[in-house]
Amino acid sequence: MSSSPSPCSNDLHCKAVELGFSKVGVTKATEVPQAIFDEYELWIKNNFHGEMTYMERYGDIRRNPRLLLDDARSIIVVVANYNYPAQNALKTPQFASYSLGDDYHEVMRDKLSQLATFIQEKWGGVTRVCVDTAPIFERYWAQQAGVGFIGHNKMLIVPQIGSYVFIGIILSSVEFQSDEPCTLNCMGCNACIRLCPGKAISLSGMIDARKCHSYLTIEYRGDLPDGLDLGNRVYGCDVCQSVCPHNFNAPTTNIAEFLPRKEILNLTHDDIDAMTQEEFSRIFRHSAIKRTKLAGLQRNNRHCSKK
Ligand code: SF4
Ligand code: SF4
Repeated sequence: MSSSPSPCSNDLHCKAVELGFSKVGVTKATEVPQAIFDEYELWIKNNFHGEMTYMERYGDIRRNPRLLLDDARSIIVVVANYNYPAQNALKTPQFASYSLGDDYHEVMRDKLSQLATFIQEKWGGVTRVCVDTAPIFERYWAQQAGVGFIGHNKMLIVPQIGSYVFIGIILSSVEFQSDEPCTLNCMGCNACIRLCPGKAISLSGMIDARKCHSYLTIEYRGDLPDGLDLGNRVYGCDVCQSVCPHNFNAPTTNIAEFLPRKEILNLTHDDIDAMTQEEFSRIFRHSAIKRTKLAGLQRNNRHCSKK
């Protein structure tokens, strides 16, 4: 085993694809540029993060990913496609696409752990796996690693694949060859800004989570604002992805765990109103939707006008 610079990451790419990831990229583990960090701090200062106070913490780690892993030299970014053609009829409760299959935290962590083991067996060194919960600027690193670019909707947009992707990160003490950063951008499209139902996306490039239906239906715990009309969205919101031209021909996922569960797709608004805690626990076992809890789901349902 050697921790000297890897001449090429082809084997890494092949293993990632074998595990079901759609794309992999590598960049150096360095500090985040001041401008990127300043933008984040301004977003926090504006209170655009709402009640997600955990986002105020660990600024030093967000700034310097090497604090997550001593000796980290490379950041390996993978994406897993979860796209599946549209949900049922307009009047059925809509759940964000990412939540329709098994909980991505569990699926991604398992796949990333396998990739990390492969890296350690082949190249040595130490690794740390991050799935969504670690304080790290995932999309920035994905862009640096050439995987895609960050759209106005703040999603990672992967060319030819779209934005219906989960991002996974592995920090490694091995110095892999870096990929070139992705330099694409939205090219003046602005569709998501115009069509966002909460008017949460500003031209300045910031999203005010407090107006975002995804934040309100998933993260926010209190009563929803009077008069808030969620349409038929009971969990999350896909509008800024569904209107994005990069998703119009997005391929369907090849990961069985991300395929929508029929039992969730077939729920009606009445089913949600009448749901018991036992039913909720059973239906959403190993599902990201359990995050909102039964009371949250029923609260959201009361704000749906398209029933
Ligand atoms: S998730 Fe929905 S409400 Fe939030 S920014 Fe996107 S389109 Fe707007
Ligand atoms: S809808 Fe248009 S502006 Fe919004 S992220 Fe997609 S390409 Fe960018």
